[in-house]
Amino acid sequence: MIEMKKILAAVSALAIMLTLGACGDKAQTDKKAASGQDKVYKISSDNSFAPFEYLDTDTNEYTGVDMDILAAVAEDQGFKYEVKNEGFDAAMGSVQSGQADAMIAGMTINDERKKTFDFSDGYFEDGQIMVTKAGSNIKDVSELAGKTVAAKTSTMSAQITEEYAKQYGFEVVYYEDSPTMYTAVASGTNAACFEDRSVIGWAIKQEKLELQTVGDVVKPAQYGFAVRKGQNSELVEKFNKGLENIKKSGKYDEILAKYGY
Ligand code: GLN
Repeated sequence: MIEMKKILAAVSALAIMLTLGACGDKAQTDKKAASGQDKVYKISSDNSFAPFEYLDTDTNEYTGVDMDILAAVAEDQGFKYEVKNEGFDAAMGSVQSGQADAMIAGMTINDERKKTFDFSDGYFEDGQIMVTKAGSNIKDVSELAGKTVAAKTSTMSAQITEEYAKQYGFEVVYYEDSPTMYTAVASGTNAACFEDRSVIGWAIKQEKLELQTVGDVVKPAQYGFAVRKGQNSELVEKFNKGLENIKKSGKYDEILAKYGY
């Protein structure tokens, strides 16, 4: 009987030790989570916006200015992340619904977006330019009156096209990504589109598209890394600090030079 009691005592002591041990581990995990060490940030991006994010068909991995800046900033600040290249409109939806923590997608910082997003410091400046089929004799936006014009859903391209549509009277046709919008113009389905100058410049040069730019760049503004308004402020701070550090170290210039800037 005494033996039995001893065994029971030993068993319960062991159970207590195990419980304490488990609690200890849990406390450790909670501490790590709170300090953000183990957090893997979910970052959304565009699916085809070269040279900022595009699929490198040799490696089958996404590459580009945004992807490289994000990697350099994360390394500098010691945070983990995974990127989903789902398209611009989808990325905005993911951030707003909380499915993604942030987005980096050649996203122009503007007052309208500031109502629902918080932005990092700007990391690149670009504006919009009109694009037509190569050889087209359209020289001015006013000549688009009565025609159909392509725009990329939820982007600055759409904002500008909608403004001009009201002013000059033409129909706007929406596309989910840049390549399908370019095809619509190159094939003559739509008379023109508006796109970020450096992106359409890259597409015409690298992909030999039958397109040309017309006129001047309008609405130049900075690109920023964005989170849902009021959320993930620590991530924006990390991005800003990392950006400052990679600018100082020369890494930022090195990344831009790699893509021809
Ligand atoms: N810079 C443009 C915008 O913010 C286009 C972004 C994009 O198509 N990825 O709307």
